[in-house]
Amino acid sequence: MIESLNEIKKMRRIGVLTSGGDAPGMNAAIRAVVRTCMANDVKAVGIHNGYQGLINSDVVELDARSVNRITGEGGTILYTARCEEFKTPEGLQRGVQSCKYLGIDGLVTIGGDGTFRGAQSLANAGINTVAIPGTIDNDIACTSYTIGFDTAANTAIDAVDKLADTMRSHQRTSVVEVMGRHAGHLALYIGISVGATAILVPESKLDFEKDVIEKIREGRYNNKNHFIIIVAEGVGDTMGIADRLYKETGIETRVTTLGHVQRGGRPTARDRAMASRMGHYAVELLLKGGTNRVVCYRESKVTDLDINEALAMHKGLDEYTFRVASEIGI
Ligand code: ADP
Repeated sequence: MIESLNEIKKMRRIGVLTSGGDAPGMNAAIRAVVRTCMANDVKAVGIHNGYQGLINSDVVELDARSVNRITGEGGTILYTARCEEFKTPEGLQRGVQSCKYLGIDGLVTIGGDGTFRGAQSLANAGINTVAIPGTIDNDIACTSYTIGFDTAANTAIDAVDKLADTMRSHQRTSVVEVMGRHAGHLALYIGISVGATAILVPESKLDFEKDVIEKIREGRYNNKNHFIIIVAEGVGDTMGIADRLYKETGIETRVTTLGHVQRGGRPTARDRAMASRMGHYAVELLLKGGTNRVVCYRESKVTDLDINEALAMHKGLDEYTFRVASEIGI
């Protein structure tokens, strides 16, 4: 009888790195990777600073105890970085050499779609690589869930609730800029959760006059005394939007940019649990011989897809949620 998956593949060392923007829950994924390695008699190597650390062989041996109590910590114990050099053929070659020199038979990379492209290059160059989606933006098409999204949304909701207390007292309009890079998934989720009057996202074609200004005027007429407008950072010119709102409605308006606070904090239960499952899944996939795969969450299941296929997919905004948020934000 096969006692562990590793008897099939005989992997000796698996590396793990975090890359691109950090996200709460990455530590829980690292812990799961390391502990799953231990359970299968595989050594685990942590690579510092994403692909930069891979190029420089900047690594640390990890065992079950080195990842004690990190599940609840935000950020990433392995640090993260962006590395332009890795995108060049020479940089990639240095990364491949480094894996060979370090005896890394399999690699788990945690990050966004840039990180996936790096994983794809490594897999094409013969290094068994599996990627895990870690980004607060939830902008990865192949998966309905990315590690960090839930914590970031909850952090933002908490901040907007606090803002709303003071803004309501002064009968002001709050314009709140939230993260999400080029996508509006995070803004939409925050917007529906705080009961925003309007949610401005790069993907939507809102008629500003009708869907925002008129809505506020109507709300005022119906004795609504406070309006929350959520603006995704990808829309740009949040100050300009606030100025226009003030000029056209006459209601005092204040802008708050939540910024990097959304990337920090203790991960929620959902992020910890999902990251743990994805980390475990990634190692089992490597042990089964998987490479050039991305772990994803689809139809309420942790599963995996080919990275080439995953990167070719496009993620649109959830139109239904957008319609609900618009209709009830009156
Ligand atoms: P994220 O992973 O959050 O999307 P980035 O887009 O900044 O963040 O990508 C993280 C890193 O992944 C980059 O700094 C680079 O080292 C690597 N990377 C991104 N795109 C590619 C690519 N086309 N080929 C190889 N590596 C890439």
